[in-house]
Amino acid sequence: MNLLRRHPIAFVLIALVLLSALGPLPPLVDAVSGAPPADVDLVRPMLYTLLAPLSNVLDALTFLSLERAKALLLGWTAVLALWGLLRRGTPRRRLVVAALGPLAVVLLGVAAVVLPRPVPRLVAADSTLTVIDYHAHTAQSHDGRRGWTLADLAAWHAAQGFGASYVTDHNVVFNGGVDDPIRLLPGVEWSVYDQHIVALGAVAPVERGVYGRDTRAMLGLFGALHRQGAIGIASLPEYWRNHWAELDDFVAAGADGFEIVNCAPKAIGFPAAARAQVLEVAESHDLLVVGASDNHGWGKVTCVWNLSSPSAHGYRSNRVIARPIALAQGEWQPWTAACTQPWLMLAGLSWSERSSWLTWILVILIYRAVPRRAGDPGGIGILARSLSLKILRLRRPPPATG
Ligand SMILES: [Zn+2]
Repeated sequence: MNLLRRHPIAFVLIALVLLSALGPLPPLVDAVSGAPPADVDLVRPMLYTLLAPLSNVLDALTFLSLERAKALLLGWTAVLALWGLLRRGTPRRRLVVAALGPLAVVLLGVAAVVLPRPVPRLVAADSTLTVIDYHAHTAQSHDGRRGWTLADLAAWHAAQGFGASYVTDHNVVFNGGVDDPIRLLPGVEWSVYDQHIVALGAVAPVERGVYGRDTRAMLGLFGALHRQGAIGIASLPEYWRNHWAELDDFVAAGADGFEIVNCAPKAIGFPAAARAQVLEVAESHDLLVVGASDNHGWGKVTCVWNLSSPSAHGYRSNRVIARPIALAQGEWQPWTAACTQPWLMLAGLSWSERSSWLTWILVILIYRAVPRRAGDPGGIGILARSLSLKILRLRRPPPATG
């Protein structure tokens, strides 16, 4: 009871880790049906699971919509600053703690974007399927990470189980030719009249001005891509934000498909209701629906993979497999992010990740609960020292009496 009163955070964490297991989220879902796929697995490397509290937090920070990222940053910064200020101690000490909390939140955000770390990998039971990404960038894009090369991009994909990816830099054509460690396929992302069109296949440069006048002109790009032998996919968030009333015009103009999941912070909040609407249009016209990492060199994990079958075409030829926490971004109000994002993360833990969390919490709890003698400095040695003291006491002969 005393322990519980002295270490409330540890016990609240333990309760949350256990309670969230009552309504667990599957590691992956099919973005079309919403059901967990039976024939694919999310494989977490051993080091990823050993460091689960860090791995899971950094993943959860990566899968935030822009609005929710801002709300989460604001929420946790405020709570931790307040907690620091309300602690016991000298004003100086309270101020330091009040500053360290928010700093830790910012550092975690930076770590999510740049820290190298083990990542989960998608493994499909059927090896005839290609695990593919339809939309990714290199430093050739104006907003790509500086120094983010084709080799970096290929390695990023390979680590997460991809066997191929289109390279779709902003208005810069990629001609292909990379086969190792995965195949990088030719493509480009054209920006035309409030719309991004991902062109896949043997693409050639186009006169962008011709397609930039208005919606009608923009839609003409689909025909131009067909004449090149390429196909065109309408990208998120643009068709949702700027052309939502014109989906039928996209179809009539020859759009070959739509992105239904895109991991970029400005697109990941695409709501399920809108996705259902696009799916209806795509299914009735037998169009492709795809997921896009839209990687720009930042962040270590994708929120979506595609399973593509070589012989089929159209609506049935591609399966979109996503992380549930990513799909949930459009379902929760941004202001709830400080609570809902941690909860979604915990609900999505596997049992081995859950065990890792509990072990870490208990180790830290025991370390902090071992009473320090006056004059003992805090440090890693406390646990060991208290254990060795006990052993010494057992070995020491009883003090002579009389
Ligand atoms: Zn893009």
